Amino acid sequence: MDLNGLLKDVEEILAKVDAGEKVESLSDAGVYVPSVQVDRRNVYFIYHTKDEKDHTVKTLVVYEENPTIGDFDALETLKGENSTLITAALTDHNNQALAKRFPWIKPTSRRNYKYTFGLGDRLGNASNAHLRLFKGTGIMPVLAQQSIRELTLMHRTNTDVLLSASWAVFEEGFTFGWGADGDHVKTEYEVDYAVKVGCSMITLDCTDVINNDAVTMSDEELDKAFSALDDDQKKYFNDTYLDKTFDLGNGNSVHFTKHDVEESVLTFYGAILFAADIYKKFVVPYNLDFEISMDETPYQTTNPNHFFFGNELHKRGIVPTTMAPRFYGEFQKAIDYIGDKDRFEREFVLHEAIAEYFGYKLSIHSGSDKLSVYEIIGRVAKNGWHVKTAGTNWLEALRVIAHKDPEFMVELYKYAYEHLDDVKDFYVFNAQTDGKAPKPENVTVDNVVDVLSDDDGRQVLHTMYGSLMNLKHNYHYVFRDKFWDILLKNQDLYDKYLNIHIAEHIDLLQGKYKTKEEALDALEPKTDISKEY
Ligand code: ZN
Repeated sequence: MDLNGLLKDVEEILAKVDAGEKVESLSDAGVYVPSVQVDRRNVYFIYHTKDEKDHTVKTLVVYEENPTIGDFDALETLKGENSTLITAALTDHNNQALAKRFPWIKPTSRRNYKYTFGLGDRLGNASNAHLRLFKGTGIMPVLAQQSIRELTLMHRTNTDVLLSASWAVFEEGFTFGWGADGDHVKTEYEVDYAVKVGCSMITLDCTDVINNDAVTMSDEELDKAFSALDDDQKKYFNDTYLDKTFDLGNGNSVHFTKHDVEESVLTFYGAILFAADIYKKFVVPYNLDFEISMDETPYQTTNPNHFFFGNELHKRGIVPTTMAPRFYGEFQKAIDYIGDKDRFEREFVLHEAIAEYFGYKLSIHSGSDKLSVYEIIGRVAKNGWHVKTAGTNWLEALRVIAHKDPEFMVELYKYAYEHLDDVKDFYVFNAQTDGKAPKPENVTVDNVVDVLSDDDGRQVLHTMYGSLMNLKHNYHYVFRDKFWDILLKNQDLYDKYLNIHIAEHIDLLQGKYKTKEEALDALEPKTDISKEY
């Protein structure tokens, strides 16, 4: 690289700072302005160049009034009399060195933030657009949020995910604070891994220790199973809960019938003990934000179930940061909420009251596209909320493909539709079986973009990302390389789609719009926005 040119950029930045001006534009367009940090006479920024394929290449530039900058791995070095300028790759090593100067590039605790929003980024290049959107909203983004299953499918590790998020935070100058979530960790081994790579938060998935059989038992069977407990256990549970009403304040209360007590104990007590164990072994020693999730179970968490869980944790001195019950209705991936919204609200009010009573916040999982309940969540959850969205940026990436290479998009859709069996063990949905997803023979270059607005079409594409990206023929990827090439060439368009997509969510949560329709009208231009590029 032209190191003398970079030195001129540094001088220009310092001159602006000396003149009391903001660094809003620079004569060298390669300097990514939001990334510029000046600390005394030291200057740091990310420099953009293009490679032969027209993809953006990012390099860290460090200038310090120091004869050496030994803690970075430099690519190139330009020594002045009392200063050093280096270029450096965006590696883990250089990230650690930079974090010593700017601690905010590392994830931090969510506990002092009222509103937090989880953004899964399957592909790893969505964080910049997300951060630009979150600036000034007062919402803390949780950028690195991947379950082990998703990581494996995308050939990524938690280290990659955390690292690309941290670099994006520096690049966008996002000093507000961000979180990293070891999402849906189920075992001590997975928790340990999340801790070791530096997650500030874990989401403990209790699915494997929740006993769902209890929910489908008749009262007789339930009673029989409950009777088999130790006498002191039965006595404790009955004395504490049976026929008791717990006043949550503001006219809200939770009452336990015999059925509620027995079902709550038999379904959740094992999970509570598991959570308490993880709390002692990991959450306290590593000062983690602790989320407990029961959203991936087949049955909804009733208000008594939730109270029982919170109360038993409370008795053990445990206050999680957030709890994710399984709410009433269906939170299927990549489409809007399905269910009776009035009932959702009635029960949500009580879940919120329980959370406030014990001092934690509610977490809403599978939050992507649940636009029709966000107004309720934003209005009721006065204590704050955590919302998790994941993976729908993959669909926004496909929107880029549909606009830039519709023929390729038709190919992707056809493959996805015809190979849905690949994922039937992982996902619950009915896109193909009920015959509503667009049939491949009806999808053409002229209408393929509409598949991305069709609920069933979205689900087909959403669930098939691993199969599409990993398909190989004669030792090479069939779709992956071409997909990446188109996406990286059109990062600006991708950023724009991501922006619109997430803005719909947060505007509804923050009460800027009252209905989904209002938000969509305001944010999704009716014209084809790809034409601007
Ligand atoms: Zn979940």
